Amino acid sequence: MDNQRIAQVFQEIGDILEIQGANRFRVLAYQKAALTISEMGEELKGLYKGDPKELEKLPGIGKDLALKIEELLTVGKCQYHQELLKKFDKGLLDILRVRGIGPKKVKLFFEELGVNSIEKLRKAAKDGKLRELPKMGEKSEAEILVALDEFEKHSERMMLSEAIHQKDLILEYMKGCKDVTKLEYAGSLRRMKETIGDLDILCVSTKPAEVMEYFVKYEHTANVIAQGATKSSIILDIGVQVDLRVIPAESFGAAMHYFTGSKEHNVALRDYAKKHGMKVNEYGVFKGEKMIAGKTEEEIYKLFGLPYIPPVLRENRGEMEAARKKKLPKLVEFEDLKGDLHVHSEWSDGTDEIGEIARAYRDAGFEYMALTDHSPVVAVANGLSPDRFKKQWKEIDTVNEELKKEAKTKGDFIILKGTECDIMPDGSLNLPDSILKNMDIVVASVHSRFKMSEKEMTERVLKAFKNPYVTQFGHPSGRLINQREPYAIDMNKVIQAAVDLGIALEIDGQPSRLDIFDYHAKIAKEKGAKFTIDSDAHAIGQMEFLHYGISVAQRGWLEKEDVLNTLPLKKLLQFFHKRR
Ligand SMILES: [Zn+2]
Ligand SMILES: [Zn+2]
Repeated sequence: MDNQRIAQVFQEIGDILEIQGANRFRVLAYQKAALTISEMGEELKGLYKGDPKELEKLPGIGKDLALKIEELLTVGKCQYHQELLKKFDKGLLDILRVRGIGPKKVKLFFEELGVNSIEKLRKAAKDGKLRELPKMGEKSEAEILVALDEFEKHSERMMLSEAIHQKDLILEYMKGCKDVTKLEYAGSLRRMKETIGDLDILCVSTKPAEVMEYFVKYEHTANVIAQGATKSSIILDIGVQVDLRVIPAESFGAAMHYFTGSKEHNVALRDYAKKHGMKVNEYGVFKGEKMIAGKTEEEIYKLFGLPYIPPVLRENRGEMEAARKKKLPKLVEFEDLKGDLHVHSEWSDGTDEIGEIARAYRDAGFEYMALTDHSPVVAVANGLSPDRFKKQWKEIDTVNEELKKEAKTKGDFIILKGTECDIMPDGSLNLPDSILKNMDIVVASVHSRFKMSEKEMTERVLKAFKNPYVTQFGHPSGRLINQREPYAIDMNKVIQAAVDLGIALEIDGQPSRLDIFDYHAKIAKEKGAKFTIDSDAHAIGQMEFLHYGISVAQRGWLEKEDVLNTLPLKKLLQFFHKRR
């Protein structure tokens, strides 16, 4: 059993306990353990080494949880979890996945109205029964109906991060099949789309029947839909379809191209081929009956006099034209990033200490990071006041001093002072200028009142932009994948204002955000906008989210010059501080 599944089990135990109204600390223990485990770089399987004591070394994992992990690793399930599930209505867990509904409401709806499924919840809302419950009303009932629509529309598509994880697992498994000589994945995942439907795997083999036999025995298979001579499909236990195709080696490139898509890109290439008197399909490129290319994607593009077009650009957004003119962008790469400008610590809702975070970034090869803990609206809920930033700066100074001393052996690294400052509904910032002026980095973000009209929201953001200390506009659309639609805003106006004022648009790499949208990034780049690619990490392991940010940037055609955190520190601050 891998970390993600173990984390899921703990999350589910925590959710069930919370709905049952169990002791708050017990609930928290499971939820925290789930978070710790899902963010670990190393597999628990490897750490365990037959001794649960090894697991107790992990933060938040006591004896009891260590034994449960042992059970999951060795038996494949946990008795306590199974017993909870037996006595528990699974429909209640589905309801918990609807945006805006927490365990307390699940409990309320179930106890008062017997609501134990999505369908019953929808019916209760439509019949106007939810509004009569305590702490509910017509408005919150209407909101639940909207959230239910979103839930149904989105629940079939996987987040990019989950798709990558599932792909890694199944490729690892297929590598164990000795009859496979070449193995690749295609589909929208190869284009790094923000959400993924099915997984597509292609392979080469001289023994397709054996490969199919092996494939359908994958341990996470819930259902085999088809087992054919060269194509099989399974449904994973998380409800995702995986297609495997065995392809002749001479057609592998053509098949990779065909199954990577997008459909629109493929059509554009087909039309292009036609003009050259050729035909392209999933088997190869043909002139009359004769196949003239197909082994690799490169040779196919080359045949038409085109450079290789990376999968992230294959959306028919002008890439064929750019390729023809030899004007494809030189895409920004992860290795170009010199720092991360949106990171949370335990000073707001993150989990780690400043020193730990900074050293982790330094040791990963970065030169700087900005600590951007939340301005009070979120922080006050955690018992903090604006004055705490002054205390935080002292700690940052101390850690920076320490880092300086370590620089000889470990390299230079600096922590920038910053905040993720709420843009209030009236467009003011949630911290006074007297605090902001001491900040190197101010990420201005909308975290409240998402339902304003487009006009109001646009004015709200543009007013915030006037503050000279704002350096970036954080997660500009505000959407949460599969949970919340973007707020209404005139993105063209916002982009233009950002360009005019020298405010960077953020690409937030959190898997549920991936925000700004790739197509807005492309439009903004064409207008001359600058960007920062940030992780918005709340724990050290989430530094990895920068990779997702890079994939959005690449899909938006961004180059190194477009991204400010590829700059050396001095140049970065010169750009940001010229408005002060
Ligand atoms: Zn935020
Ligand atoms: Zn944030």
